[in-house]
Amino acid sequence: MSFLFEQVIFGPIRSRRLGLSLGVNLLPIDAKICSFNCLYCECGFNTTMHEFPFPTREQVAEILETKLKQMVAGGDIPNVITFAGNGEPTLHPQFEEIIDDTIVLRDRFCPTAKVSVLSNSTRIHKPHIFKALNKVDNNILKFDSAIDRTMKLIDQPVGKHINVKWLVEQLRRFDGRLIVQTMFIRGEYNNEAFDNTTDVEVEAWLNAMEQIKPQQIMIYSLDREAPVKNLQKVNVDALNLIAEKARSRGFEVSVAG
Ligand code: SF4
Repeated sequence: MSFLFEQVIFGPIRSRRLGLSLGVNLLPIDAKICSFNCLYCECGFNTTMHEFPFPTREQVAEILETKLKQMVAGGDIPNVITFAGNGEPTLHPQFEEIIDDTIVLRDRFCPTAKVSVLSNSTRIHKPHIFKALNKVDNNILKFDSAIDRTMKLIDQPVGKHINVKWLVEQLRRFDGRLIVQTMFIRGEYNNEAFDNTTDVEVEAWLNAMEQIKPQQIMIYSLDREAPVKNLQKVNVDALNLIAEKARSRGFEVSVAG
């Protein structure tokens, strides 16, 4: 069974890594809409819909303001406001304006909180998305494999323009102002096996990281139920080995096992 966020604002959730995190879902509450269709997505496969009832910019600002006022009055100062949710947040037509509003609200109610965006990198070529992501504190961008066949199999991009070369070129444009997030996973889909933890995969991935130069790398494996059955979680020891290789090349790496 997949999991959909039922509200624009969710949480706050307390985690050891992030502290108190308030989530923002800019996607429709009853559908999953994304420019990838990752085999491991905890929200399930994309919903086939033609009309997308995104929350408006005004609704998001109002709900966020109410929630932040409430939290601050109760002494719960969020450590981070995270844009994630039922799909790709940058698909919202007013993504940049919403980021601007969020920064204003953050500065007013909880200036120490960081604004984070979890994006799949497919829309960073759009000037307004690139500009918006440059304004946030944690610009967290997905890069699951440096080998086209694997990336296309695991992430199932919807747009034809997405390939590894394109992704590396676009991610390099941030000049290091980004955090790369990579899901390590093994499995099979439509009789095609994949494993982005092999030596060849990890070497290609490290070479891509050297070109992209992220300020940090976050690696993880399956956490929740996925829409595809034949997927295997990569254990924390294997993730740590990959992390060590990246650290030996000078990267700061966090592992969520
Ligand atoms: S990019 Fe994120 S939201 Fe989109 S399909 Fe992949 S895991 Fe799901």
